[in-house]
Amino acid sequence: MRSDYLPVLLLFGCPAPADSGTDSAPPEQPVYEDVLSAADGWLVGDLHAHTSYSSDGFDAVASQIAMASALEDPAFLEAHPAYQGHGLDFLAFTDHSSVEAAFDPDFVSDRLVLIPGAEWNFSIAEANLHGLEQSVSVDLEGDGFDADDLRAAVETVHCLGANFSINHPMAANYPFAWDVRSHDSLEIWNAGWALSVPPADQALIVEWEAARGPVSPFFRRAVQAHSLHAGGEALVLYEAMLARGVHVAVVGGSDRHILFLPGFPATRVLVEGGAAADREAVLAGIRSRRTFVSRGPAGPQLLLEVESAAGEGMMGDQLSVAAGETVTVRIGTARAPSGQLRLIHGVAVASDEELEGAALGQQIASWDLAADGGAERFELELAVQSGDWLYPVIVEPTVPAELEAEHGAALLDLARAAAAATTDFTAISKIAGSLMDTEVLADPSECDPADWEPMMLQCIPADTQPPGSFFVPDPLQRAFNAMTVDGEPTGWTMGAIGSAVMFVPAAG
Ligand SMILES: [Zn+2]
Repeated sequence: MRSDYLPVLLLFGCPAPADSGTDSAPPEQPVYEDVLSAADGWLVGDLHAHTSYSSDGFDAVASQIAMASALEDPAFLEAHPAYQGHGLDFLAFTDHSSVEAAFDPDFVSDRLVLIPGAEWNFSIAEANLHGLEQSVSVDLEGDGFDADDLRAAVETVHCLGANFSINHPMAANYPFAWDVRSHDSLEIWNAGWALSVPPADQALIVEWEAARGPVSPFFRRAVQAHSLHAGGEALVLYEAMLARGVHVAVVGGSDRHILFLPGFPATRVLVEGGAAADREAVLAGIRSRRTFVSRGPAGPQLLLEVESAAGEGMMGDQLSVAAGETVTVRIGTARAPSGQLRLIHGVAVASDEELEGAALGQQIASWDLAADGGAERFELELAVQSGDWLYPVIVEPTVPAELEAEHGAALLDLARAAAAATTDFTAISKIAGSLMDTEVLADPSECDPADWEPMMLQCIPADTQPPGSFFVPDPLQRAFNAMTVDGEPTGWTMGAIGSAVMFVPAAG
């Protein structure tokens, strides 16, 4: 998505009123126990970021790589020990209809796996083409773009060794209503969960169909879930695809153009070769669907595994089962203090037509997570049919208990303002302006980590190009990712979402 709101945010950015809770003691900075790590092959990165090769991008390639490496900076780690060992491992370059970043002399990194690519526009809809190094045509016959052209483009992208990833599908300004079923991944989380733009609605369907023909049955079903904000509706779209046997990886992307660091949200991918993996291995990991998306690289962790009579599988796998077979589901969690683990289950829907009004994902179990955020394991037995699917979600308190008294009201106000940002810039702009040092914004060379405050946006010393970039400390990040219904915070923040396991008929 283009950074429609961010330049506006900068224009509005008011000088900070002195009182923003800067006198309070820093929140606790626990060092968590993990359930998985890069050493286990679970690499973490950002699959959606823009450089100055995008008409609306600000960062040179070198600067983007420096921002993606900022979480490794010793001063940063000293202030944020939870990020120790949880910097980014990979970064995709997804400029608007341009693969030029990959040919830039600065497209090189000692430790990040750099993934070339582009964000392509398919008649309003946008998709990231991860691994792409050349242009693709979107209107082969030159007779106007249609759904057949798109399906051909997906094939072309695959032939070129790249992955096709649908972006921010339910965003009203760049909706993805095309019916495509051979893509590799779906961006169910773009930027902050609460910061998503308003979702597509029934009027958009009418407009789309007049101009482009039928919307996909998945899109039509997701529009019915109209009070959840675009992030929540993208998850409904994912469920509608699963219900029709379209099984892809969930991914996230910061869609960074400016201001906030890449890696929020972050995608974890199980990659062959672990820490020594290359870009092909990361792309293959996504095609294997062994992914989950977390609020950030040091955010909540999930590992869902399932054991059936036929064998074992994990998030993203397809597992064969006999009718009504009871399987064992095991879920590991970490890094979500006082959060909640939810297990979502759905069934196959017999036809596209029956998707409309179908129930889709049902929460069949939930577990409260320990207050210390340490690694935990949960297990349950479940009778399943072929065509059923399961995926795990972690939600976290938007306001951690220890901040409730002093900052609770302000954090919920920030969540409300974030949810309203695209229809009412004023509230979020005022708040954002009060959360940052606007002098450093204008001149990042003024950034001094000694000035970082726990409840303020924290400048990044490695950013040398104005406007400055900022790390969003955990309490503010929770507010930006608040789950809202009709604009009101539910009290929960989206923490992590895992790709679904799908059950398929036992062979023979
Ligand atoms: Zn984008």
